[in-house]
Amino acid sequence: MMLNLSRIHFPVTTLGPGNRIGIWFQGCSIRCKGCISVDTWGMKKGSVSVDEIISVIDPWLDMADGITISGGEPFDQPEVSNWIDVAEITGNTVSRNYLAGLIVNELLSQLNIYQHQGSSPFLDVWRQYNVMQGKEIMVHVNNDMIVGVFHDISEQGELILQCGNGKLKYFQCGEVSVRTKN
Ligand code: SF4
Repeated sequence: MMLNLSRIHFPVTTLGPGNRIGIWFQGCSIRCKGCISVDTWGMKKGSVSVDEIISVIDPWLDMADGITISGGEPFDQPEVSNWIDVAEITGNTVSRNYLAGLIVNELLSQLNIYQHQGSSPFLDVWRQYNVMQGKEIMVHVNNDMIVGVFHDISEQGELILQCGNGKLKYFQCGEVSVRTKN
């Protein structure tokens, strides 16, 4: 797969938590008024392969807290439709705005539940999809790194880590970064 790339930077500290790898795609057909990335609107002729992008970001992966994909409009990449094609999956043409509206509506109804009942109605579902549950993880807090087993999330949203001595440690800090150990 070939992609039109604008630029890649590391570290990026303003587009998500921690030190991130930022990947900006080139090309945007949306043309928002006041866009600060007008230089990414035009689709360049040159393109790079996914393997080339991976080789650039590979040396940073161990140090990075995450990857931010930006642009331009990543979904304007000609070959992106080959890997995310809602129309093919559903058999219907799906309007982007209609889909965005459905998602926003669903979020609003969930936020309403959260406002009145807190996080408890969501925790069981969340646990089903938590790939780190019961796994050994590393928690970075400021300059410290703590190893333990991902025990759970509390009703207050705290990360609960089971430490080597069996004691549970609770993390509330917004700057916590979690990684699987292997
Ligand atoms: S780059 Fe982003 S902000 Fe700018 S026009 Fe495209 S979608 Fe809008």
